[in-house]
Amino acid sequence: MTVKISKTTTGHGLRHIVEEISGVDLSICYQCRKCTAGCPVATLAKVGPSEIIRRLQLGAGNELLDSGLVWMCLSCETCFSRCPMQINSAAVIDALRVLAVVRKATVPQGNVPLMNSMFLKTVETFGRTYDLAMIMAYKLGSGTIMNDTNKFPAMLQKGKMAILPPSVAGRKAVMRIFRKSQQHKGSVK
Ligand code: SF4
Ligand code: SF4
Repeated sequence: MTVKISKTTTGHGLRHIVEEISGVDLSICYQCRKCTAGCPVATLAKVGPSEIIRRLQLGAGNELLDSGLVWMCLSCETCFSRCPMQINSAAVIDALRVLAVVRKATVPQGNVPLMNSMFLKTVETFGRTYDLAMIMAYKLGSGTIMNDTNKFPAMLQKGKMAILPPSVAGRKAVMRIFRKSQQHKGSVK
């Protein structure tokens, strides 16, 4: 299915396009707020997934794309696992992230999009995340090359970071997925 993303908001706000991208039916949320109660970043972001959903239900438009949670969400899916209606709020927030990029929304959380794109780039190149390459690319892009370098030896010693890239059997399949998603992006309007 091709989802067309317009660069402007219609009279219905973002609700329909978010439902299309995420596959989530927003109408079944009854605002019990269990998702927000379990969200590890809701306090920091000053908004929880239940509020995002409520605002979508009420017809919020592009202004929602500036919410801190759009870029601070960890995709941990705690919200999803706590929801009595099985609403995947993480997918809803992912959809808002896509829209924020396409519609060039304000990005309130500094280098989070850069980290996000470096993460995806390493997955595309190596078939799964490769922390060392991701961190180097992030540091170069953000101009923070010397930050936290003192932690590097201990991380290596404790096996928290590998020097060599991962060996992944399905690497070509992952590359194909990325290629397809790029073609799809080309059809986004
Ligand atoms: S837990 Fe589910 S039903 Fe409750 S507010 Fe969150 S999304 Fe809505
Ligand atoms: S997936 Fe995002 S919104 Fe859901 S609980 Fe985790 S951080 Fe919060």
